Amino acid sequence: MAQVSAANIEIICNDTGGNITKNYYIRQYTPQHTITRETIAAARNGTPMVVFGKDTGKRVMIIAGVHGNELPPQLAALKLIDYLADKKINGTIYIVPFLIPSSTARSSRYWNDQNPNSIANYKGTPTNRVLELAKERSIKALGDFHSTQPGGTPGEDAVFCSKAPTYESYRIACYISKNSHSRLVAYGKAGLEYPGALEDVCNLAGIPSVTCEVLSPHGMAAPASIDRSFKQMLLFLKYSNVLPDTILTISQAVKSANLIKGYYESHKGLPEDVTINSYDYSMGQVLCLFCKVVVKISSGYASRISMGNVNSAIVSSGSYNPGKIYKSEYLRVAGRILAFIEIYNRAPNYASTSLGRIPFQRLIYMYSKILNFYGFYGRLPGYVTI
Ligand SMILES: [Zn+2]
Repeated sequence: MAQVSAANIEIICNDTGGNITKNYYIRQYTPQHTITRETIAAARNGTPMVVFGKDTGKRVMIIAGVHGNELPPQLAALKLIDYLADKKINGTIYIVPFLIPSSTARSSRYWNDQNPNSIANYKGTPTNRVLELAKERSIKALGDFHSTQPGGTPGEDAVFCSKAPTYESYRIACYISKNSHSRLVAYGKAGLEYPGALEDVCNLAGIPSVTCEVLSPHGMAAPASIDRSFKQMLLFLKYSNVLPDTILTISQAVKSANLIKGYYESHKGLPEDVTINSYDYSMGQVLCLFCKVVVKISSGYASRISMGNVNSAIVSSGSYNPGKIYKSEYLRVAGRILAFIEIYNRAPNYASTSLGRIPFQRLIYMYSKILNFYGFYGRLPGYVTI
């Protein structure tokens, strides 16, 4: 059934095609590149699915346009297709940017007069086709992206999931919720509240799945709502670790250390994230980065640092007696922090030192001071005062 184009686009349903450029907002906000143009052209023949990766490794799926009148996620999916076009993927990402192009073309919520998100349990429907495909391709996580109108349900940025039978859905939803300020809506068992919803039928089939919503009036889109949906999609992919690691230089790390040191000293706390090379890093990633850089510099092998996903500490806790930490000790502590991150994929709440337990936030400040010194003098300090 699959027809493959140069950009690796498959048509997954044949009776859903439409000319989505008839939709003003799609015309207005589509990134104008070859791959997005090919995707939109393919939509005339049915539902296009763009495949990134070689159909191997960890496989995840992003769906938008279950409701044709919810435009921000469909435009965000096009933006994501554009964003991933030149990237190397750790695994395979399947993106369906508009499930029902004929509905998107006329900004309609319905397919054959039915709500497509309540009939995923019926054979032959577009949402059921996605379920079948997700099973065939052994999808390990599925994100279904919607928008919700003011006063609607939920009427705000949100992530929906059910804890049973596939608990991993809840973990994905928590991660996206925490990192995007989307309200977490977690149900007990899938299929009770919303039988026939794509997310529910996937969860029931053992495929971890979430529904993400951004606030936007139906039949409209704006750059801000498209960006918020895009961010939810990136978080979904980051959780699954399918995005390639980013590479940073020592001098980029030192620059961010100077920024964070200054911020900490004037605000007595840390920013939520820091932008390095137009990419946002969480404070968990920042601690990991600083520890890696300090260890690299001390080994005399100052090269580039690869950064994957690292969650922040659960809480920043612990107390210690202010004083000096000597170089041999702060290097040992950095090694222990990195070992912890390796196992738990998050930063520790504190690190035990000769001064006591130094909390997560102070650890970031401590290593930012060390790198700030390195930036000035070109060597690591003999000790740091904390
Ligand atoms: Zn919807």
